[in-house]
Amino acid sequence: MNERTALVTGANKGIGLHIARLLAAEGFTVLVGSRDAERGKRAVAEIGDAARLLLLDVTDAESIAAAAARVDRLDVLVNNAGVNPSLAPPTESDAAEFRRAYETNVVAVLEVTNAFLPALRRSPHPRIVNISSGTASLTWSTHPNPQFAPGAPGSAAYRASKAALNALTLLYAQTLSEEGFRINALAPGRRATDLVPGARTSGGDPAEAAEGAVHLALLPDDGPTGEFFSWDGTGVPW
Ligand code: NDP
Repeated sequence: MNERTALVTGANKGIGLHIARLLAAEGFTVLVGSRDAERGKRAVAEIGDAARLLLLDVTDAESIAAAAARVDRLDVLVNNAGVNPSLAPPTESDAAEFRRAYETNVVAVLEVTNAFLPALRRSPHPRIVNISSGTASLTWSTHPNPQFAPGAPGSAAYRASKAALNALTLLYAQTLSEEGFRINALAPGRRATDLVPGARTSGGDPAEAAEGAVHLALLPDDGPTGEFFSWDGTGVPW
């Protein structure tokens, strides 16, 4: 085992797989979180010797408890698993879409983080990176900037859930800063993944976004905490 261990949730594909690969290259033992064994094994084989499969459905309390019981010490937790159940604006959204988005993008982050807290507390330099979205920035939604043109207010469930994740990020950072944690949110930019229909052809390289996550995973002890960053390291307004 390498000395440092990182867990990336939802690491069997997309941005999470790239984050896992880069953390392995940085010398971490990487726990590849996947709710599906076969998809997880394929990712582990792609990453190589530093990767281990950790079966983890972030919306299943039993799965979270079983996964946490297997990990003694954790240095980095990347809460990456996420869903975008609907592109609808609020007027056309329903409660089921909102519940699904909040379940995975917010409640699961709370449950996973708390379950792995004892292992994180055994690290001398614990880091948590929450994969958020620039579309959750209320400031960018009202004052567009070159990185993000909000357009129509679609994906209401997703964007509201990621705004709640941002709030959770700040609250965790404030709660745990005295213990040496550095906890930040990342806006990865629009990437070519399976997250939303059409993104595979219109999004940018997910590997580039992963570099931003790894930068936050490697922050020094006096690095920022409770902040929101774009993949390129620039700050994002809440
Ligand atoms: P993908 O759909 O490619 O990957 C999502 C990952 O999350 C998959 O591995 C998926 O696993 C996993 N996942 C979903 N639900 C669960 C669950 N209940 N338990 C465990 N794993 C789960 O999308 P991306 O790579 O794009 O998304 C990664 C993160 O980046 C998300 O948080 C997303 O919101 C965020 N993001 C992405 C953007 C983009 O443009 N792509 C832009 C802004 C933010 P499975 O294969 O089993 O479904």
